[in-house]
Amino acid sequence: MKIAICPGSFDPITLGHLDIIRRASELFPRVIVAVMVNSKKKGLFSVEERAELISRVVKDLPNVTVEWSSDLLAKWTAEKGDCVVVKGLRAISDFESEFQMALINRKLNPELETVFLPTSEEYLYLSSSIVREVCSLGGDISELVPAEILEDVQKKLARG
Ligand code: ADP
Repeated sequence: MKIAICPGSFDPITLGHLDIIRRASELFPRVIVAVMVNSKKKGLFSVEERAELISRVVKDLPNVTVEWSSDLLAKWTAEKGDCVVVKGLRAISDFESEFQMALINRKLNPELETVFLPTSEEYLYLSSSIVREVCSLGGDISELVPAEILEDVQKKLARG
């Protein structure tokens, strides 16, 4: 049976990410949320911190675990076994880069398929960068991130 891998930066995890993870956990017997180090994105939280925050949020989903890696996704998944990458798609604007990623991943690891889940419409506009921006300007993010991590995000951004 396939292991679903949900990769991303998750800096921090939002309710949009959680929706995709939860839906993947209903479709696949096992889900690994993979916090991938993206050298192009300057991090708010360290990868270890992001993984810890996600673990707290998914603790009630028994088939979901969290890992992090600075490896190439195609290489990392090859070591995990029979995997499928599950990604959320928000808008047409996500499509181009996600399509490119799916193709390069399959080029590098021909067994690695990617499946896309359309976002739930209430999260269409939601991204980690919007959360960081709203919170750093003093806006309310309580309906954007899981309650378990709200204080951590507020504290981190208050400290600058
Ligand atoms: P972000 O764009 O928020 O920084 P990531 O790089 O962590 O997100 O994205 C990881 C995956 O989660 C990507 O497939 C992305 O399309 C998906 N994703 C992010 N936000 C949402 C959302 N609101 N609804 C559905 N999928 C999402």
